[in-house]
Amino acid sequence: MKDLLNRPLRDLRISVIDRCNLRCQYCMPKEIFGPDYPFLPPSELLTYDEIERIAKIFVELGVEKIRLTGGEPLLRKDLPVLVDRLIRLEGLEDIALTTNGIFLPKYAHDLKQAGLKRVNISLDSINDELFGQMNGRNVGAAPVKKGIEAAQNAGLGIKINMVIKKGMNDSEIIPMATYCKENELELRFIEYMDVGSTNGWKMKDVITKKEIYAKLQESFELEPVEADYFGEVAKKYKYKDANVLVGFITSVSESFCSSCTRARLSANGQLYTCLFNGNGHNIRDFLREGADDSALEGFIKNIWEQRRDRYSDERTEETVKQRKKVEMSYIGG
Ligand code: SAM
Ligand code: SF4
Ligand code: SF4
Repeated sequence: MKDLLNRPLRDLRISVIDRCNLRCQYCMPKEIFGPDYPFLPPSELLTYDEIERIAKIFVELGVEKIRLTGGEPLLRKDLPVLVDRLIRLEGLEDIALTTNGIFLPKYAHDLKQAGLKRVNISLDSINDELFGQMNGRNVGAAPVKKGIEAAQNAGLGIKINMVIKKGMNDSEIIPMATYCKENELELRFIEYMDVGSTNGWKMKDVITKKEIYAKLQESFELEPVEADYFGEVAKKYKYKDANVLVGFITSVSESFCSSCTRARLSANGQLYTCLFNGNGHNIRDFLREGADDSALEGFIKNIWEQRRDRYSDERTEETVKQRKKVEMSYIGG
């Protein structure tokens, strides 16, 4: 067994909201996340003061990178204000955002001004009809492409996230790769995961990196690229005839638990040490009951030191059924 002790705490993902304007079927299926779905009331969400305070302690404990996510993070009011506050944390090296891109024409400039460096924009197909079916709201690819352009114009670094589900959008592998290559965008293929308990995941619906890579090789020549740092999640390649990267997030076929340095803070202030945990640790109530910074630091340190998570290393059809897992909209991928 790989040694899972002492994985450093380097990254923090913060979900700022559990709501979303889309209903991607692999994340928030519309049959379950319907009009009556009980999303969190505002009082349950961490305030920006609370997020800043918790983030500061994480940075003091070694976190270098923060990613803001959701639900759809740009539905949270004044997100650039939060970016501006977090960017000032001494020791924080990088701050990024994962978004479906639809609100970027409105916010990209302000986010950049506030100090945001990079965005990951999710787009699963450039075929309007197919994308509309996948996102459950009949939203075509055009609004996301506009978001991409807005991010480019604002000078933000961009990666495109594409989740591939067998029989759904595998036909879009080459069209998406072509679009991204032509527009000098780094595309990351994400293996479909069994996040939460509502997306009806089955192993047979996963298209592995190996399969995607084989498909790409029919149209493109690729060469491997070294990882930039310990714990880098994407396995990266470069097109031989262009200075454009393409990556794979192989959570299912080649798990990477032994180098997982990431903690997650849900929209309602629960701390998760793994994307596939059932219950989080309630840091929000501890804070609201008056814990001082050193008590909060002890709380986080203790949880991280006890961490033994290696869900993806152990995943089988059986573990998928057995475990209750937090929904993606709460902790944001
Ligand atoms: N709404 C934003 C977005 O879509 O980018 C941020 C939150 S979303 C939960 C974060 C990332 O998780 C997205 O790139 C999305 O494609 C990915 N994701 C959601 N459900 C997934 C699943 N079942 N398997 C793999 N990736 C998933
Ligand atoms: Fe919303 Fe993102 Fe989930 Fe799609 S993947 S439903 S855009 S949170
Ligand atoms: Fe990290 Fe859990 Fe994913 Fe393994 S399964 S890489 S421990 S988040």
